Amino acid sequence: MTRTSKSALLFSALVTAGLLAACQPGASDTVAPAGAAERVDTAQAVPPAINPDVWPAGETPFAEDAAIEARVQDLLSRMSVEEKVGQVIQADINSITPEEVGTYNLGSVLNGGNSAPGANNYAAAPEWLALADDIWAASTNTSDGGLGIPALWGTDAVHGHNNIVGATIFPHNIGLGAARNPDLIRQIGEATAREVRVTGQDWTFAPTLAVVRDDRWGRTYESYSENPDIVAAYASEMIEGLQGAIGDEDFLVGEHVLATAKHFIGDGGTHRGIDQGDNRESEHDLAYIHGAGYPPAIEAGALSVMASFNSWHGEKLHGHSGLLDDVLVDRMGFHGFVVGDWNGHGQIEGCTPTDCAAALNAGVDMFMASDSWRGLHASLLRDVENGTVSHERLDEAVGRILRVKLRMGLLDDVRPSGREGSGLYEHLGSDAHRAIARQAVRESLVLLKNDNQLLPLAGSSDLLVVGVHADNIGVASGGWTINWQGEGNENSDFPNGQSILGGIVEAVAEFGGTVEHSMTAEYTARPDAAIVVFGEEPYAEFQGDRAHLDFDDESGLQALQALQADGIPTVAVFLSGRPMWMNPEINASDAFVAAWLPGSEGGGVADVLIGDDQGEMRHDFKGVLPFSWPATPHQTPLNVGDEVYDPLFAYDYGLSYARPGEALGELDESAAVTADAGEGLSLINAGRAGNGFALSLVDAVSDRVDVSGPSSSVASGALVAQAEDRFAQEDTRRISWTDEASLEVTPLAGPLDWSGDTLAIQFTYDVSAAPAGQVTATVGCGDGCAGAVDITQGLMIAEGKGWREAVLPLSCFAEAGADLASVSLPLSLTSDDALTMGIADIRLVVATDGMSCEF
Ligand code: BGC
Ligand code: BGC
Repeated sequence: MTRTSKSALLFSALVTAGLLAACQPGASDTVAPAGAAERVDTAQAVPPAINPDVWPAGETPFAEDAAIEARVQDLLSRMSVEEKVGQVIQADINSITPEEVGTYNLGSVLNGGNSAPGANNYAAAPEWLALADDIWAASTNTSDGGLGIPALWGTDAVHGHNNIVGATIFPHNIGLGAARNPDLIRQIGEATAREVRVTGQDWTFAPTLAVVRDDRWGRTYESYSENPDIVAAYASEMIEGLQGAIGDEDFLVGEHVLATAKHFIGDGGTHRGIDQGDNRESEHDLAYIHGAGYPPAIEAGALSVMASFNSWHGEKLHGHSGLLDDVLVDRMGFHGFVVGDWNGHGQIEGCTPTDCAAALNAGVDMFMASDSWRGLHASLLRDVENGTVSHERLDEAVGRILRVKLRMGLLDDVRPSGREGSGLYEHLGSDAHRAIARQAVRESLVLLKNDNQLLPLAGSSDLLVVGVHADNIGVASGGWTINWQGEGNENSDFPNGQSILGGIVEAVAEFGGTVEHSMTAEYTARPDAAIVVFGEEPYAEFQGDRAHLDFDDESGLQALQALQADGIPTVAVFLSGRPMWMNPEINASDAFVAAWLPGSEGGGVADVLIGDDQGEMRHDFKGVLPFSWPATPHQTPLNVGDEVYDPLFAYDYGLSYARPGEALGELDESAAVTADAGEGLSLINAGRAGNGFALSLVDAVSDRVDVSGPSSSVASGALVAQAEDRFAQEDTRRISWTDEASLEVTPLAGPLDWSGDTLAIQFTYDVSAAPAGQVTATVGCGDGCAGAVDITQGLMIAEGKGWREAVLPLSCFAEAGADLASVSLPLSLTSDDALTMGIADIRLVVATDGMSCEF
């Protein structure tokens, strides 16, 4: 069975769920999408008070160091207020010049996932090191009378030094959780730190210690496990791998970097898995489930902790002195500094990214004021002068930052390029690091099914490898790879990597077999077996949030079913950032392997799947599930230890050659996807194509470009899409027409049947420059079939009025000629002249009586 009737089910569910009220438009001009509303909503009843006694008590592992204390006091006594304010601010390298870092005496810089030297994500490694030198030189310049304290540079080296072309890309944390190998985690930390040092950064925003409980969250793959014990066991290993061990001579120096325990606290437990949302757990569960990684991290010497975007019972962590001060510092004995997350302070009620004394007063010691640093510097200076922030608190925050810099030896160090390990480009993707990554890939694979002991495949077999994902290192690496979302990377961007296909070809070549690679199930020579590689497209943060766990890209399923029908034994290799409901795919496979997001060493897959010429295994499966596998698309939250626990595959499940298990048998495929209240089918969600759709720019000469990354444009320049922040980073697109062109939403899996239900298209938009010509919204249904509605007038009126909502019932498009039974173009917005508008969301909702065809 396939799942083609899904959209019909969804819409019936929308109707029966009585969503009419929830979807009623027009009540207000500014409407947040469901997730965004939870992200910013702080209007809860009185948040519960914190009881530090509930929490595990800890002590700082650092002995009092009189020399460091004396230097901190001396520096504080000689710093101006301006310098102190600068010290607590971190700016993003895309929003500041090295000279400005010096002028404002900023304490730190970061490169966000989309920031790089020269704003080029593919900048060569030496350019990173040169920029590190420039920032160091500017920040240590004392010609302005300042003390010249070097700025720290932080980067998201979250699965290797992943922003750098040529670095070793390790499996994302979810795969490491499957490996259950703490010692390997330490080795990965060491290798990562060594690669970070090459390009001159001092600090990584890792490890993530989230204990993810609802796998709809887009950051599930950044979590080691739903089980707090795994996260706790790995936390200290990763911290020590990155930093070295307290007391050792090379602690924080040499080939080590400063680590960050993040995101404090409760990030993996937000309601419905909504990114930056609200954690509503009890204080006990917050402490012992979500907080499990922090005591071991602190004990291992963690000296920076990142505050989380989420709230706890409505109170944002960036403003939560009970959790930051009373718990983290006083109770747990954290001895470093708290860094905020990307403009996270701006989400505290009453704050903006450029104005937020509350975060500093609550215990954030360093603001991640990526693009807001300038305004924040001015407002903080004002707040110190007028007493809103006390000198004591400012000194405390600066002191904490200086103490860490002193422990790192940063104040006595030379420019980055002169440091141990820097400029040793041969460390990036070195054989030794690749071997660790390959081992991690092998150990992360989880075998869910192996009927008739199909695996291992003999290396002497003739194999068919199917799917675009088989030969795509970028997709196998997922988000946080070279760029923020991990999108658009090609194999050539991984000069030291190997795709999964590459690994299979190599293994089979050794043992006398052959490999044919095909994008679909077609082949030229009948193979002995087929390996179908498919999975999720890359995403990061909230852009990966999903309403359910159904895997709705059917290309893998179709290939598996076609091969099965042909009588060819099938192996499925599923690449994903979380467990998903895949019963049809599992039924269509003889063997099924959850490979998570393995990274740049695809060869690790062949090591386990392909045996020698006799079919004897070369490496056995070691991985077991770090997350429970759902029996239905809606079975979430689903966690080991739940009172009612009925997963398809339990936490810890995993077959191996040594533990073959029983044949799996036929799984139930009847589970239907239903909509959650308040949720419609998104054509455009948070400025990106909704699930199952593509979003493209098309101009009058039919140049077509997919919207992706911070900026996209057709060659003629007639249409440009620029990412913008609304409620969160890059959650909207500003679309500018300068000439005739269209913004198009197309379905990935062919025409849709929208004839059964009474639906409307709801737009959340903001017009910044009114149309100079005519604008239409069109629903298309193949050659010569379309229905267009003129929306010019509505857009004219909306100019400069801020974010608004409008709805157009689908019946308007039907009356204008669209055949709703065969929708091949769900929406095209065409302007024949200049127009600039922001688009946050476009979704299908249930149509109600009062809706008209006027936009
Ligand atoms: C993420 C953090 C990350 C930071 C810097 C934020 O959006 O939540 O995990 O460290 O960006 O890139
Ligand atoms: C930035 C990225 C950053 C991300 C959060 C985005 O808006 O463009 O560079 O990594 O936010 O980390």
